Amino acid sequence: MYPPKFEYYRASSVAEALALKQQHGGKFLAGGHSLIPVMNLRLADPGVVIDIGRLSGLKGISRENGTVRIGALTTHAMVAASADVPQALAEAAALIGDPQVRNRGTVGGNVSHADPASDLPTVFTALGATFHLQTAAGTRQVAAADFFTGLFETALGEDELLLAVTVPANPGGSAYKKLSNPASRYAMVGAAAVVSGSSATVAVGGLTPHARRCPSVEAAWAGGSGVEAAAAAVLNDLGDDILGDIHASADYRRQMAVVYVKRALAAAQSRAG
Ligand SMILES: Cc1cc2nc3c(=O)[nH]c(=O)nc-3n(C[C@H](O)[C@H](O)[C@H](O)COP(=O)(O)OP(=O)(O)OC[C@H]3O[C@@H](n4cnc5c(N)ncnc54)[C@H](O)[C@@H]3O)c2cc1C
Repeated sequence: MYPPKFEYYRASSVAEALALKQQHGGKFLAGGHSLIPVMNLRLADPGVVIDIGRLSGLKGISRENGTVRIGALTTHAMVAASADVPQALAEAAALIGDPQVRNRGTVGGNVSHADPASDLPTVFTALGATFHLQTAAGTRQVAAADFFTGLFETALGEDELLLAVTVPANPGGSAYKKLSNPASRYAMVGAAAVVSGSSATVAVGGLTPHARRCPSVEAAWAGGSGVEAAAAAVLNDLGDDILGDIHASADYRRQMAVVYVKRALAAAQSRAG
């Protein structure tokens, strides 16, 4: 398959990437593992592609003041191999696709594309991550709860570049569990949990248009419910817009959400000690 014709620019700095975007429009290209397939399928025809893949300053993981900063161009393989990121994040990155996808695909591309079946949005939502964005006019920060706004939709503005995502360095015990599509490995249901003392933050993805927090599960946990009862409360958090397709019906995914939230909570609890 070939993509539609496009103009190609390669940025050598963040400032140049932002200037090219303002001048030409189009799409940023990171690892190309979501953008190129959708162009090949003619679901996107941006006309202009601005390659940010060589902006080495956006690649890497560092710790600063109790947080971990993950540059937008950090690959899934780097996250999976990192001892610095919360365990749920490394666990989710290791479960993405296959080795080729994990070695080319980037954290920034994954969250900017906001595929409902992606893994990282669910983990970032449970971890209360912060997204660092830049335009030619300046920078801003957006909380995970406000970043994912819909099916393939985020708070990113048209000319905005994601620079990095930060998460707490020591959030407590954390875990990510998913029911994978057996062919692509995308999540049909994904659940992330972070347990610290008597509180838990929990998020689900894969079956909802975008990753979402699970306040009923969190309240049940804080109220002393065990893993089983707290996980069952996820049915109150899913809403009416459950996704279903040829791989798994909406009803099946709904039932699996209970199972995977239970697994994530149990693993996070045991890691919390
Ligand atoms: C076979 C296959 C299996 C996969 N399985 C999984 C899976 O199991 N779980 C999962 O989560 N994902 C999966 N993926 C998706 C994979 O994680 C991609 O790496 C990711 O979704 C996109 O990252 P990328 O770097 O390739 O982004 P690109 O394809 O280059 O870009 C994607 C989109 O994000 C925008 N963008 C990229 N970087 C930035 C930035 N810094 N700022 C602003 N906008 C930006 C681009 O303009 C584009 O619109 C799979 C992909 C394939 C091909």
